[in-house]
Amino acid sequence: MPGPDDRSCYNCGDTEGEAHLERCMVCGKWFCPEHSFKQTGRRFCSAGCARDFFWGQTDEDDEGEDDDTTQRDAPER
Ligand SMILES: [Zn+2]
Ligand SMILES: [Zn+2]
Repeated sequence: MPGPDDRSCYNCGDTEGEAHLERCMVCGKWFCPEHSFKQTGRRFCSAGCARDFFWGQTDEDDEGEDDDTTQRDAPER
């Protein structure tokens, strides 16, 4: 069993006894409800982690925008 002592909000330091801590599934930090960032039903420690999570899920292939760099073998002149 993990000791509850090392769990505390990354921001205010509240322990599990003082607040209901949750763990960020992106960076693994613990955070209290006061410092949680909610997005579409999930909770993260920060907006940045929420964005990282959703960007990791959606397979954004930005290679489609780099067409000009891949056509290096076709010189204009
Ligand atoms: Zn907190
Ligand atoms: Zn996080």
